[in-house]
Amino acid sequence: MTVRIDEAKVFKIIEEKRPKVILVNAPGGLLRQTKDLMERVKEKYGVTSIMSGDSCFGICDTADDEVEKLQADLALHLGHNAAVTEVGDYTYLVDAVDDVEFSEVVDVAARVLAPYKRLGLATFSQHLHQLGPVKEKLESRGFQVRVGKKNGLMLEGQIFGCDFSTSYPIRDDVDAFALLGESEFHAVGLALATGKPTFMLDPYMNEVTDMREAAEERRKRAILAVYKARDARVFGVVTGLKEGQKMLGRSSWIAKRLEMNGRKVVQLAMRDVTPERLAPHREIEAFIQTACPRISVDGFTFDRPVLSIPQADALVALIEGREPGEFLERSKWIELTVGLIKR
Ligand code: SF4
Repeated sequence: MTVRIDEAKVFKIIEEKRPKVILVNAPGGLLRQTKDLMERVKEKYGVTSIMSGDSCFGICDTADDEVEKLQADLALHLGHNAAVTEVGDYTYLVDAVDDVEFSEVVDVAARVLAPYKRLGLATFSQHLHQLGPVKEKLESRGFQVRVGKKNGLMLEGQIFGCDFSTSYPIRDDVDAFALLGESEFHAVGLALATGKPTFMLDPYMNEVTDMREAAEERRKRAILAVYKARDARVFGVVTGLKEGQKMLGRSSWIAKRLEMNGRKVVQLAMRDVTPERLAPHREIEAFIQTACPRISVDGFTFDRPVLSIPQADALVALIEGREPGEFLERSKWIELTVGLIKR
């Protein structure tokens, strides 16, 4: 497997903008390639790169706010492409593409997915270029294949761990979803958000995994956390400080609804929502965080309920005597603000 950063795009940006200092942020899996790139940029153009040492999990982790603080001229956010290519005043999104092939795993999928005639295809940034070839191959095996349309933030067939707005609208037109790539994180999210059987096509091991069991386990945990939080009297409502996921409006709506229903609320803000950061707030019995929903859906290490936005909606419904329904089945679990901070 080789993940290649779109170096040509980086060079083009540098030649056009002629920066002296650039800020670079990238997910942990790309650190080596990013450092190599920084060296090449230094050698070729004499440009100094500063790598952000903060966590970078998704497209929400752009570092536009930091550019001025570091007296840099622009920022490169690597590895999370989208329909938007520029963010805020300084940031350029740069793709990283995985050159792994899917032909063998598609052969396996054609056998495993035989009971499902109508398939929805989805993937994440690194494999987007494989959607077309895989679609063709599956169609040649007799499947009807749909790929979700692009929208203001996402490219055709693309999903993030919190945004399924390409795939969700086609869920009633397909019998199952196939997620290209070795990412239980994305596959479980897709299964939960669409409520459809979802299979992960792993091109490294050439395995096809049915995600229903893993998704059901997360769904049950999410529901249990909501019911546990219902009994809490003191809530912490946490707003994330990452620039692509600042949900102040949602935080204040949730805080108001809880207070209207007799709960005490302490509002907090933090960059990374972790067990260590929440631990000192001993008087708080349950948290609601409007940052990354996967902190709640996949976070197994918290000692008190920590609810995401869809879970908070379910909690408010429960407290107010309404049925929460299948609250994870929705197009987006958070309205990422990254697409809104355009130049
Ligand atoms: S908020 Fe969305 S894009 Fe950001 S890390 Fe979480 S799942 Fe990924």
